[in-house]
Amino acid sequence: MQESHAIPKATGDIMKEEVFKKYEQAGQILVDVMGSVKDKVKIGASLLEVADFVENLIREKGAQPAFPCNISRNDEAAHATPSASDISVFGRDMVKLDIGVQVDGYIADSAITVDLSDNANLVESSRAALRSAIDIVRAGIKITEIGDAIESTIESFGYRPVANLTGHGLARWDHHASPSIPNRSVLYGGTLKEGDVIAIEPFATNGAGHVSEGGSAEIYRLETLKPVRLPAARKLLKAIEEYKMLPFAKRWLPQTRLDFILNQFERSGIVYSYPVLKDDAGGLVSQAEHTVIVEKGGCLVITE
Ligand code: MN
Ligand code: MN
Repeated sequence: MQESHAIPKATGDIMKEEVFKKYEQAGQILVDVMGSVKDKVKIGASLLEVADFVENLIREKGAQPAFPCNISRNDEAAHATPSASDISVFGRDMVKLDIGVQVDGYIADSAITVDLSDNANLVESSRAALRSAIDIVRAGIKITEIGDAIESTIESFGYRPVANLTGHGLARWDHHASPSIPNRSVLYGGTLKEGDVIAIEPFATNGAGHVSEGGSAEIYRLETLKPVRLPAARKLLKAIEEYKMLPFAKRWLPQTRLDFILNQFERSGIVYSYPVLKDDAGGLVSQAEHTVIVEKGGCLVITE
């Protein structure tokens, strides 16, 4: 999941034990779910079944999805998730599975690329970039150094990082807290400190290295609560409030007049939509992501 809004940082002081335990639990559930779903992504398998499997397994394990299971293919970099009536199946695709788990609002966020397209090198470039970033993360590191490591690793494979997709901070009930963690060398950015929770997510491509919104949205989140009058709209808003400020899928909602009301909600600023993001040149995109807690001399990866 990617975010274009800047949200103030909520993590700060060194983490309390009870908070740490919740991150650890969210991370462990995500590791288990990722391990179970990997083999289900194969040619001919249904995208909707994979998304349902992931989200139900998270709930069975006593947590909640922090956002809809993202299944983005080929030139889609992020924000694709099946609709309620989706009938598509995997072909020779480069498949990004991006999964979020929350325990009491504490979020673990991780992504892998399952390659059915015979482009293993492109997949390896984002994995290696993630590893090179994790290797240098510690309290006191400049965020620009992380972007440098990611960009140079991806370029060493002959690919480009996607310049306008970034990693991000994680805070309670806030999937995209500051700071942004860029995937290339940039001039901005602060310094990480002990107890920061961040998601690092390099995207690599053989295309343009820049994504734009394409196609309709299946993922939304609450932006501002406002009074609504229609009974169907009230019912829908109540369902949406369940997810607090976290992203949710259209297919999770009561389907009565859903498109009509959601469009109204979006126009009046009640919800924010996440259209699918695609590489501008139609290139293949790979992604790797882990959530880490920054420590004095390094970091703890909670999603591996
Ligand atoms: Mn993320
Ligand atoms: Mn993610």
